[in-house]
Amino acid sequence: MEYDYIIVGAGSAGCVMANRLSENPSNRVLLLEAGGPDNNPFIHMPAGLARLSNNTNINWAYMTEPQAGLNQRKMFWPRGKVLGGSSSINAMVYIRGQREDYENWASMGNPDWCFESVLPYFLKSEDQQRGASDLHATGGPLSVQDLKYSNPLSQNFLQASAQLGYAHNDDFNGQQQAGFGLYQVTQRNGQRCSAASAYLKPAIKRSNLNVLTKALAEKLLLEGNCATGVEVSHKGEKHRFYGGEIILCGGAINSPQLLMLSGIGPADHLQTTGIEVRHDLRGVGQNLQDHLDICTLISSSSHDTYDKVNQVSAGLKYLFGKNGPASSNVAEAGGFVTSSLATDQRPDIQFHFVPAMLDNHGRNTLPGRGMTIHACPLRPQSRGEILLNSKDPSRDPFIQPNYLQSDHDLELMLESARLAKEIFSQEAFSAHRDGFIFPEETVCTRDEKLEFIRRKAETIYHPVGTCKMGDDPMAVVDSELKVHGMENLRVVDASIMPELISGNTNAPVIMIAEKCADSFHH
Ligand SMILES: Cc1cc2nc3c(=O)[nH]c(=O)nc-3n(C[C@H](O)[C@H](O)[C@H](O)COP(=O)(O)OP(=O)(O)OC[C@H]3O[C@@H](n4cnc5c(N)ncnc54)[C@H](O)[C@@H]3O)c2cc1C
Repeated sequence: MEYDYIIVGAGSAGCVMANRLSENPSNRVLLLEAGGPDNNPFIHMPAGLARLSNNTNINWAYMTEPQAGLNQRKMFWPRGKVLGGSSSINAMVYIRGQREDYENWASMGNPDWCFESVLPYFLKSEDQQRGASDLHATGGPLSVQDLKYSNPLSQNFLQASAQLGYAHNDDFNGQQQAGFGLYQVTQRNGQRCSAASAYLKPAIKRSNLNVLTKALAEKLLLEGNCATGVEVSHKGEKHRFYGGEIILCGGAINSPQLLMLSGIGPADHLQTTGIEVRHDLRGVGQNLQDHLDICTLISSSSHDTYDKVNQVSAGLKYLFGKNGPASSNVAEAGGFVTSSLATDQRPDIQFHFVPAMLDNHGRNTLPGRGMTIHACPLRPQSRGEILLNSKDPSRDPFIQPNYLQSDHDLELMLESARLAKEIFSQEAFSAHRDGFIFPEETVCTRDEKLEFIRRKAETIYHPVGTCKMGDDPMAVVDSELKVHGMENLRVVDASIMPELISGNTNAPVIMIAEKCADSFHH
């Protein structure tokens, strides 16, 4: 046996696992990553994120199946393919979700994942710039800071929310999630703090940690029901690495893909794909959940928007002070509200304000200047699946999110878009609002609004749930994240969430890995 632990995927979870498991010098750890090193400077300069979502050198750039609920559109799904994974290309918004999200996980057969049980791991990971408190900690690897620079128009957004009667919230991860405010971000001194910068960089010189990039794990090596290694393609050659335990951190799309490629998954699907069934596990790839989002755009003559930033001046401010617009995560402000459809007090819609025009993930450049409000329902009921298109590991898997399969999700999308439009209609924006771009002024009736959602909604990048944790027949891992019915095999990433949390998913994934890694010491 060459390694004690082989970790597949150096994303948000994989970097945490690599760091924590190699803290013990007697553990030999191998970290495999399909992408390359994170040396693109736009990864580290926060506003550079606009240049990352289309860059297929560092991005899997997946496309979903055509969506029946979205006019048969195939949706663009960026995912990081680089050290740091999606945390190297994400928008850096730091959100943990709601206490009730974790109580819900606990009620789904995972009693030790209630809020009181996960909070210590949010704290263990955190280095909070504002200092420690009951709900925050300092000294952890993940730097959580206030933006060094925020756009003056983000204040207009906050004023507009106040004019609508919403409370101000200066800590969405404090006692209350509800309200509006500036987001805290995973940055250190104006630079992105990805999982790779937070966890991998400090560990990379350890002699017991090997990091192999451009290494695609194609298949698990199994002896009976025991995982013994990984078959990898690296620079056109196949290699086999053997380890005492294999830990899958490939994310919500690739972890179920790798399990299925290895014969672990729904038997009928594996058989039709021509893969020998090693372990019939029905839940693999099922239970896919994501946040669907709708953007409301106004045109504006304000010269403060980020549409036409003076790049020389922004570049110099960044170069000499790690400050100014280039240090912004662009989605600077936001809010959480409880909709009129909610049956309890929990916020069920999240907003992200972008002081620039953002259409189709920034892939469609619109003329002029403007601003965008993203709005997304937080606890969708639609469920999709990841399957294989082929037994060829280099082929993209079949991604079927089934967006808007549930009427509840559609109603909440309408409400989200309605509220976004109300925010832009407030007095606080009147001096800066020339007109609505999306939805167009012609969108008035309910049918027209539905059509607008079906035509324009996009992912806000939070797929989870495809190797869910629990003890029911559809669960893939138990609450120690060990794959049911297998030995020496875990999944540790966004795919284990039994249900999507109410917010952005990076901090929760890092928490999941911190909690799992800690269990290795006991
Ligand atoms: C554009 C974008 C914006 C986002 N914005 C935010 C935000 O502002 N705030 C927030 O909290 N969350 C955000 N998210 C979501 C968040 O970043 C992800 O939920 C989180 O990073 C997922 O972590 P993970 O460990 O599950 O997977 P990932 O971080 O995606 O890591 C998986 C890694 O495994 C590698 N891999 C996969 N398959 C293999 C294989 N077979 N062999 C070897 N390596 C493999 C991948 O290349 C990747 O590096 C965003 C995501 C995206 C894409």
